Amino acid sequence: MDVEPSYLKLFRSGELAARVKEAYDRLTSCDLCPLRCGANRAAGEEGACLKGAMEIAWSMVRVRGIEPFLVGKRGAGEVTFSGCHLHCIYCVIKPYASFGRQINPAELAELMLTFQERGCHNLQLVSPTHFVPHILEALEIAVSRGFRLPLVYNTSGYESLDTLKLLEGIVDIYLPDLKYGDPEVAKRYSGVEDYPRITQEAIREMYRQVGDLVLDEEGVAVRGLVVRHLVLPKGVNSHFDLAQPLPIFAD
Ligand code: SF4
Repeated sequence: MDVEPSYLKLFRSGELAARVKEAYDRLTSCDLCPLRCGANRAAGEEGACLKGAMEIAWSMVRVRGIEPFLVGKRGAGEVTFSGCHLHCIYCVIKPYASFGRQINPAELAELMLTFQERGCHNLQLVSPTHFVPHILEALEIAVSRGFRLPLVYNTSGYESLDTLKLLEGIVDIYLPDLKYGDPEVAKRYSGVEDYPRITQEAIREMYRQVGDLVLDEEGVAVRGLVVRHLVLPKGVNSHFDLAQPLPIFAD
């Protein structure tokens, strides 16, 4: 199955370049995530995500591990970005992701092309929200040089609808968490009481954009939505609005 990544169409029409500009314009008073802290990151100011310029914590070609529908036999190219707009007290990558190596979009584009040359099934962007402008610029550079791997947007789920709209027609696979249904629990563990409402709206928008999960003949995802649930010890209650069931697909 040869499914063309959706961003190629936007690249050919010039819309991808327009999205890059639109995304960078938002950095002067940053509102990329739902915290909308208004930091002037264009001038180097750090936001509540603790980042001004783009940094990556690590990158790797993952050949085995969790989420087999993403790594397949040839692995996924993974880029984990430093910083995060959520500050979950149990975060396992925080010790590594709170600092990183600063890179520019041209270097990220190079990395993307390297993953493709190594045969990866897709490019997985982990904790990408606060670097959407830089990622889109890198994508434009990489596409001009032949990049065509599906993009996976691996997120806490706490996303702004405006930023998701910037990604429409660009991201092929959304991989959000759905951590909490209870605002009090969300506040206690991640510092944001509105997590359940914001994230449920965001996941509906993601589903509107990419729809059901589509696998290729090797069983690897090429498009769609996968929601990961967080199970807290003893946290068994659900407060989701069951009158509006979410589109949820299990691994
Ligand atoms: S992405 Fe960072 S700088 Fe932008 S609104 Fe969110 S916390 Fe603030």
